[in-house]
Amino acid sequence: MFEVVIGLEVHVQLNTTTKLFCSCPTSFNHKQNTNTCPVCLALPGALPVLNKEVVHKSIMLGTAVDATINRTSIFDRKSYFYPDSPSAYQITQLYTPIVEHGKLEIDLENGTKKTIRINRAHIEADAGKNIHDGDVSKVDLNRAGTPLLEIVSEPDLSNGDEVVSYLKKLHSIIRYLDIGDANMQEGSFRVDVNVSIRPKGDEKLYTRVEVKNINSFKFIQKAIDVEVARQSEAWEDGIYEQEIAQETRLYDQEKNETRSMRGKEEAADYRYFPEPDLLKCLVTDAMMEKYSKIPELADEKHARFISEYGMNEYNAGVVTASVETAHFF
Ligand code: ADP
Ligand code: MG
Ligand code: ZN
Repeated sequence: MFEVVIGLEVHVQLNTTTKLFCSCPTSFNHKQNTNTCPVCLALPGALPVLNKEVVHKSIMLGTAVDATINRTSIFDRKSYFYPDSPSAYQITQLYTPIVEHGKLEIDLENGTKKTIRINRAHIEADAGKNIHDGDVSKVDLNRAGTPLLEIVSEPDLSNGDEVVSYLKKLHSIIRYLDIGDANMQEGSFRVDVNVSIRPKGDEKLYTRVEVKNINSFKFIQKAIDVEVARQSEAWEDGIYEQEIAQETRLYDQEKNETRSMRGKEEAADYRYFPEPDLLKCLVTDAMMEKYSKIPELADEKHARFISEYGMNEYNAGVVTASVETAHFF
């Protein structure tokens, strides 16, 4: 009697040599707080300079998902206070992201396809890491200022299988374009799942709950299941309005439950405003020309291996499942 409505936010760490706004290296296996400089430490007077490579990789992603590449995009400041962000704000793109209105075709279990609309993909800077060690919390800023591309879908997904299918396709695109490692366990492909339910046939969108902290396909499906169960039970018990709030919840793998992390009443006032330290990001004709010529992706390769080499469906699938195997073949 209920139908499930899901939208995904995926944070992809881009595999650039240097950070988004400074020339610190992005590699992670260094001693804590050594890959830092006045810019990513947010020392007074230090100014950010946009890394071109990030723009190039965003054009590639936008092309792969049939999106509009905005020739002019704008950076915004999102204020929040947390020890892993020395500037007390994040530079992101709220109003005019670099990539908008794309789509991704996913394969369903029954052999058919479904189109999932992509609302946007925007560039933003990652935070550092807080490391909690007994009574002490430590901050490592090596990751601060690493470039992320946040890819936001429309709420077009209807169950855990579709979610996994979407994520696998997006993952494959990132790997084939070689714009990121997209490693879920290492945190270079981080997924926030927005879940709501509604009576079947209803067009309206009901309150969405954002579930964070899930680092495998298996746990994403489980988290969706328990969250849908929680929402539909509340509905059936007539306490949907009281129980289900627009909030961020954490998924607990051990207990297999979601728990409130940030309530609505505590929701930060981000005070977004255009980033005064950066110019608009302009994509030139030359950049478009060069970076919209993307390499062959898994689906095309799959089709070509069948038509050109006479491979069967299954073998073509095995060979194109990872970009490394496909290139080796
Ligand atoms: P925020 O950063 O505040 O979470 P975003 O716009 O980045 O907001 O992402 C919102 C996500 O929630 C999108 O993926 C969108 O598709 C999804 N979403 C919006 N409304 C609903 C809903 N009622 N049910 C499920 N998902 C939703
Ligand atoms: Mg978001
Ligand atoms: Zn730096």
